[in-house]
Amino acid sequence: MTTKLFDLGGKVAIVTGGNGGIGLGMARGLAGAGADIAIVGRDEAKSNAVVTGLGQGGTRAISVVADVTDEAAVIAMVERVRRELGRIDILVNNAGINIRKPPHALDTAEWDSVIKTNLTSAFLCSRAVYPAMRDAGGGKIVNIGSMMSIFGASFAPAYAASKGGIVQFTRSCAVAWAADNIQVNAVLPGWIDTDLTRRAREEVAGLHDKVLARTPAARWGASTDFAGIAVFLSSGASDFVTGTAIPVDGGFSIMG
Ligand code: NDP
Repeated sequence: MTTKLFDLGGKVAIVTGGNGGIGLGMARGLAGAGADIAIVGRDEAKSNAVVTGLGQGGTRAISVVADVTDEAAVIAMVERVRRELGRIDILVNNAGINIRKPPHALDTAEWDSVIKTNLTSAFLCSRAVYPAMRDAGGGKIVNIGSMMSIFGASFAPAYAASKGGIVQFTRSCAVAWAADNIQVNAVLPGWIDTDLTRRAREEVAGLHDKVLARTPAARWGASTDFAGIAVFLSSGASDFVTGTAIPVDGGFSIMG
């Protein structure tokens, strides 16, 4: 019973930004539960290496090189996944970037690029997969937010706006597509050791220790911490869970 609840055998998952960090942790979790995987990113070599690794574990996986801010590329990506893997059951909108500057120093192009990569991409990908999920009788969409979906960030205004927006976009799709049996949820990671934060840790004095001091679990998160939540939100175990924003943060967000 329990095994079946989390079984993703025969399902196909798209993971944007699945070639590294949190996305890779989620892709590995989904593959471990039996799903076929499409890894989407711009860096072909990085994606190919991940696909090879997943293949060695027995997973059917493909790499699709696409910029998720490009509408035509997103449509072509979804068509290719449908053609090569046969269906689309799960979409993880994980691709993201940050530009660390206070609001007064951020130029319009920088604002646009963060909003497009983190928020508009989720809209483009979700809209593109919707017909396949609707026609198949259901699906699962997992959007990646942040602690900055909840808290303000003096040094990342566009990032925080995009991650706040992701939560409201999640709720809107959850309501719009509930009748199609599509569940849409968000995951809000705490501070996780990835390429994205490694640079911040090098450049921002004291960041590493500040995060440790505020995190009840007393450690930074790892990409492997995202396998379980990905499987839960992509499987039958979460069929009555929709529109939520679930922190995966070692308790960071409940510290006063
Ligand atoms: P990484 O920098 O390790 O990974 C980012 C991924 O996004 C890469 O795989 C990259 O692939 C992909 N990507 C970026 N831009 C595009 C694009 N335009 N088109 C397609 N793919 C793109 O970061 P993380 O793993 O840390 O972050 C993953 C998500 O988690 C992001 O949404 C981030 O905001 C969020 N997050 C991370 C936290 C952390 O502490 N690390 C905390 C909270 C949220 P490629 O370069 O090949 O395009």
